[in-house]
Amino acid sequence: MLRSRRAVRHNVTDLTFLPGLTFADDGGLVRRAANRATKKVKPMGNVYEIFALRYATMSARTPHMNYLVPDPHETTASDLDYFVWLIRGGGRDILVDTGFNAAEAKLRNRTLTLNPVEALAAFGVEAGDIRDIVVTHLHYDHAGNLDRFPNARFHLQDREMSYATGRCMCFGALRHPFSVEHVTQMVRHVFGERVTFHSGDGEVAPGVTLHRVGGHSDGLQVVRVETARGAVVLASDAAHYYGNLHRRSPFPIVYNIGEMCQGWEIVEQLAGDPDRVIPGHDPIVAAIYPRASDKVDAFALHMKPSRSFAK
Ligand SMILES: [Zn+2]
Ligand SMILES: [Zn+2]
Repeated sequence: MLRSRRAVRHNVTDLTFLPGLTFADDGGLVRRAANRATKKVKPMGNVYEIFALRYATMSARTPHMNYLVPDPHETTASDLDYFVWLIRGGGRDILVDTGFNAAEAKLRNRTLTLNPVEALAAFGVEAGDIRDIVVTHLHYDHAGNLDRFPNARFHLQDREMSYATGRCMCFGALRHPFSVEHVTQMVRHVFGERVTFHSGDGEVAPGVTLHRVGGHSDGLQVVRVETARGAVVLASDAAHYYGNLHRRSPFPIVYNIGEMCQGWEIVEQLAGDPDRVIPGHDPIVAAIYPRASDKVDAFALHMKPSRSFAK
């Protein structure tokens, strides 16, 4: 009897696509401390490749731009890289975020190396072939070019759409990272029945799941992808830099600091290994992951990094 009950429980665990996490009645994630930081990689049925495509960089930053409370001894600060991410597997390409275009770069005084749509084309993926796009949040550097993908569905959190069109946008400090053109374009996609809304946790394809963490923006979601080296988590702006995550030090653009702090634990638990969390803007990513193209700045995140962050 005991034996069979254990067997049943084991099966249920195997069916759960998030080892180390369980679901509350309202669909929210509940952390299980006992399973924290497990390093065991379970064999998985879905194996994807992930490529980070770097399309812009912002340099000459100060420590205050990267950390809400920087180390007082620090005088220099890391550059900020901008990426979109391509997930490939099972005969499909899934894009995570859409970057910004030249007009937006000029408006904000950023240096655009290459429009992400052109970067994708140089990588061998035409915009018209993309069927699914995860928009981690609607900030200008993640949700531009929304009119460039004629056959795509957009995966967005309920709370991000509400936040970007609600009362908080009456305040410049909260509105600043958004572009009204991008948000309006997403509203057009809603009216065109091209948006799949998610609330909390969701799935784009088997082995590609979405998880709201909030914090930086109210509806920020991260993406967990099953790869041959285990689950990789595209943290997007849940962690701009490895430093935000490892030092437990918030990035200064933040809506809810409490949720941002809890988000660090969520991404680590979703990945199950610190070497499988990918920060959204850190130049270290381009330095430690293998180059995947001689035409564009593309880096293979499903491969092992040259440097480990495991303590
Ligand atoms: Zn952001
Ligand atoms: Zn960002």
